[in-house]
Amino acid sequence: MLFDNRFVRELPGDRVIGGGRRQVQGALYSRVEPTPVDAPRLIACAPEVAAQLGLDPRDLGVEPWLGVLSGNAVLPGMQPWASNYGGHQFGHWAGQLGDGRAISLGETQTPVGDRLELQLKGAGPTPYSRTADGRAVMRSSIREFLCSEAMHHLGIPTTRALSLVATGEPVLRDMFYDGNPRHEPGAIVCRVAPSFVRFGHFELPASRSDHALLERLVEFTIARDFAKAEWNAGSSDNPTGRETMRAQWFAEVCRRTAVMIAHWMRVGFVHGVMNTDNMSILGLTIDYGPYGWVDNYDPDWTPNTTDAQHRRYRFAHQPQIAHWNLRCLAGALAPLFQSTAPLIEGLGVFESTYVAAERANLAAKLGLSECRDDDPAHMERLQGLLHEAEVDMTIFFRTLAEFDPRKPDLALFAGAFYEPHKRDRHAEEFTLWLSAHARRLLDDPLDPRERRERMNRTNPRYVLRNYLAQQVIDRVEAGDDGAVAELLEVLRCPYDDQNEHAALAARRPDWARERAGCSMLSCSS
Ligand code: AMP
Ligand code: MG
Repeated sequence: MLFDNRFVRELPGDRVIGGGRRQVQGALYSRVEPTPVDAPRLIACAPEVAAQLGLDPRDLGVEPWLGVLSGNAVLPGMQPWASNYGGHQFGHWAGQLGDGRAISLGETQTPVGDRLELQLKGAGPTPYSRTADGRAVMRSSIREFLCSEAMHHLGIPTTRALSLVATGEPVLRDMFYDGNPRHEPGAIVCRVAPSFVRFGHFELPASRSDHALLERLVEFTIARDFAKAEWNAGSSDNPTGRETMRAQWFAEVCRRTAVMIAHWMRVGFVHGVMNTDNMSILGLTIDYGPYGWVDNYDPDWTPNTTDAQHRRYRFAHQPQIAHWNLRCLAGALAPLFQSTAPLIEGLGVFESTYVAAERANLAAKLGLSECRDDDPAHMERLQGLLHEAEVDMTIFFRTLAEFDPRKPDLALFAGAFYEPHKRDRHAEEFTLWLSAHARRLLDDPLDPRERRERMNRTNPRYVLRNYLAQQVIDRVEAGDDGAVAELLEVLRCPYDDQNEHAALAARRPDWARERAGCSMLSCSS
């Protein structure tokens, strides 16, 4: 495998190699080696990601790759580094953060010419580790590995996960921040993406008024990751041409972010920590921490106990938060523009893209050929009912594909209700909604078979429900490594019926309602 590492080759780095935890000025990264581990063992890998890199998945569990994926070895051509970024956390500027436990190994060209960066998460301390240890625990690594891949197979832009390796070393964590730390098994995920640059990479130099560094990162990002022939047509070697290109780039970041968020809302994904350091400049879902999937439809739900009080990152708030985060990015980029008009225009692209994507999703989820002006209110009425009657979002929409407008019947949806008494209490309203929906469908030109297929490509049957991830974690902790690959196999085809796996499409069981890891997650990972 060949590595060309443009990030470290073309951008200014820290003059200190390795070294302790510190503020790093005037540089976008620090060179740092992964810290070796005792007894690495491959738990799971994503065969498609391996294939994309031109690797045989069978090679990942043995040397030299096992060593590389656990931080014990570095291949010729790799130049490991940790990058330097800041961010707004829970609405407040947090200063320098950086890759505290992520170490990029190198950038490689795939056999078909795509550029991909390999990054280890949990491979030991870096200059950005602050007070923490640079490690990751098995439970959070399983969650990151599975969710990256589940999102990809759902058709949602995301960073990928090549491998999950147990380190054989314990990591000390206070899972509930209640003064009861315990040792947990450590793990490392090898993440893969064209770039791991975040909004916070631009915010940090801007916050330090280091406009030269900010400008270099913008130029680099456009050239490496957004090389669009039509943008260059305006010539980039004069100030007006450069500004036009930057404006197009910012609008594209806004567009991609809107597309990503619309997907999250479509499938019921709650990221949980949408700080600006967790927002990818490529519009990829990144940094899987205390994320969760909506079971019973609840716009106010967040799995993140650290955010329990204000619920800033609750399900239905994600579009507004994305816009807020883009405004932070715009603020950071402002010094590179003569006027703020192009940035405001870019934010407008977020709004228009999001509205269009939301309408398209609405039509596809409800089985309509198009979203007419009355349809958003029809959807809102449904969402209100799903919320009040505690109905499972994924099961309801999947079942809707079986709905026959000539025989509207609430009984079809029996499996989606969590509380029989709430179903009974809302039965009449549901029946009214279903009758309205039946009328709407009969007025829509899609033929029933096409409608059903379209709906089943939009409404997944299998999502990574929190309790499913937790069951895998429990099994791996009990020594059954195969549990990860087993669940991944089902999540690879989330839109297929796979009736033999129906148990994995079931409602969240009662035991999972209040169990840590299923309904409540902290940032401790
Ligand atoms: P997160 O909340 O995981 O997005 O992390 C926020 C910041 O804390 C980032 O700069 C991370 O690199 C850093 N961080 C989180 N966990 C650790 C850890 N165990 N060791 C070092 N840095 C960490
Ligand atoms: Mg993060």
